Amino acid sequence: MIIKLKKNTEPDILDKMTKQLNAFQIKQEDFDLLITSSGIKDVPVSFEKNIEEQWVFDSDMQLSSQSFNSNKTEIDLGTVKIGGSTNNTVLIGGPCSVESEEQIRSSAELLKELSLSILRGGCFKPRTSPYSFQGLGKEGLLLLSKMRDEYGLKIISEVRDATQIKDVIEHTDIIQIGAKAMYDQGILRACAKTHKPVMIKRGFGTSLQEFTQAAEFVLSGGNPNVILCERGIRTFETKTRFTLDLCGVAWLQEYSNLPIILDPSHAMGYAYGVPSLTKACLAMGVDGLIIEAHPNPKVAKSDASQQLNHSEFKKLHQELQPLAKSLGINIL
Ligand code: PEP
Ligand code: MN
Repeated sequence: MIIKLKKNTEPDILDKMTKQLNAFQIKQEDFDLLITSSGIKDVPVSFEKNIEEQWVFDSDMQLSSQSFNSNKTEIDLGTVKIGGSTNNTVLIGGPCSVESEEQIRSSAELLKELSLSILRGGCFKPRTSPYSFQGLGKEGLLLLSKMRDEYGLKIISEVRDATQIKDVIEHTDIIQIGAKAMYDQGILRACAKTHKPVMIKRGFGTSLQEFTQAAEFVLSGGNPNVILCERGIRTFETKTRFTLDLCGVAWLQEYSNLPIILDPSHAMGYAYGVPSLTKACLAMGVDGLIIEAHPNPKVAKSDASQQLNHSEFKKLHQELQPLAKSLGINIL
């Protein structure tokens, strides 16, 4: 249940209600919100006089639901806005992992050449094997920061555990929570305490309900700047790496108020399928696309098979233009 309290509700009443309902408090400019479990359907009569408006839900998808707020959240990165009422689809590009200054500079130059705004690159890689490349860590973040300063790009990079959150906040514009990390309470709670935008990637065995509940951890803790990213789920099919759940995306577009970014690279797992999948994703009218691109994918230290080379990325960018125009979308 979400309860909007009357303006000027006394602090001691607010505290009493919070305790009794085991609620989260969210302070807005003129009023407070209390968020309880969706199991609570009404409040004690003695509290009723303090309530301006209330919303009852049949699941814990509450703050992120259209039934609470049908206006899509807008993520304001200054030079670029994601979601809200914009017709923007941000095309985020860059390598799976930051590997060297030369490599990430080449990625930054590619984005600048195409007038794109957001550079991706992992520094704390959540690898399935301890023997695989684990990322450059803080050194990688510093390289991303350098690209941010030199090229005026916005940066997205992932946090693997909560101990890195301070560094990731400092050096990025969007914090990425990976598919394997999205259940991590330490990360979710740390992200709730900042106002920095957070992109949560759906785990490959995660239901839409669990996915939106991960977002609720961040939202109920006071950070409204959450983006959902569909990146493929595991099915019986093994010919492709994962299965991109576009039906799930349609469901999120209908019932959630959060911006949605699609990641065809991780879903497909092979570069050959990425361009056509990206067009299908754009046609869904999503708020963003995140595509892995590497100056030389053959030598990439992670996800080599799915990264586009830079000429493939440029070709894709060009091929998206007429489609975007016909859909009334600006690719940024
Ligand atoms: C990535 O974006 O490189 C990544 C590791 O993604 P995911 O968490 O979706 O596997
Ligand atoms: Mn990757």
